[in-house]
Amino acid sequence: MDISELHQILLNKYGDVGWWPGDSDEEILIGAILTQNTSWSNVEKAINMLKMNGMLSLSAIAKSGPGRIAPLIRSSGYYNQKGMRLFSISKEILEKYGSLSKMRLAGLEEAENFLMSLKGIGRETCDSILNYALDFPVFVVDKYTLRIFSRTGLGDLNIDEAKDLVYGSIGKDTETLKNLHGMIVFLAKDYCKTKPDCGNCPVNVKCLYFLKSNRDQ
Ligand code: SF4
Repeated sequence: MDISELHQILLNKYGDVGWWPGDSDEEILIGAILTQNTSWSNVEKAINMLKMNGMLSLSAIAKSGPGRIAPLIRSSGYYNQKGMRLFSISKEILEKYGSLSKMRLAGLEEAENFLMSLKGIGRETCDSILNYALDFPVFVVDKYTLRIFSRTGLGDLNIDEAKDLVYGSIGKDTETLKNLHGMIVFLAKDYCKTKPDCGNCPVNVKCLYFLKSNRDQ
């Protein structure tokens, strides 16, 4: 199987999954920071708390102190650290650009360098913000992507190799890349878990892991 075939199987199964969920670019950025080391259901609770308290924006977070944010995002875990990070990241973005739309105008390279210079933003969070909040053509590679690429036989790749594989075959359309990552997240949660449910997986007849385990039985 090649990446185009995987993409087509996922489209047939899931279609447009609408990932990343969020009513605004700022909500998506905040969610990308909150989701570090926790499940999305915990993030949703934290986002709802921020929303109910009028704190779901960079300006509201930057105006308040981290002490006000932390109790609201308790469900996302590491809430003191995440509260501090949300506060400092919001402040730095607003001080440098004034808004996410102005940050977008600075271009992909500058936005990427800036985000990667901020404490609390690593490769995956940076790519999530670039793709989903800032609409740049960047494919997000997470542990699910690497696991599925490895098991299906696309290769034991590092992050850059996985990106190149996708760009070389699927291209660099921003919306396509958003949906592909979303569908991979869905496949990993529905079937390709730590203990995979290969019998019901839509990819199985093309998947090296499944074919090998059937052959070995
Ligand atoms: S067939 Fe099994 S190993 Fe392959 S993608 Fe599906 S769940 Fe993962």
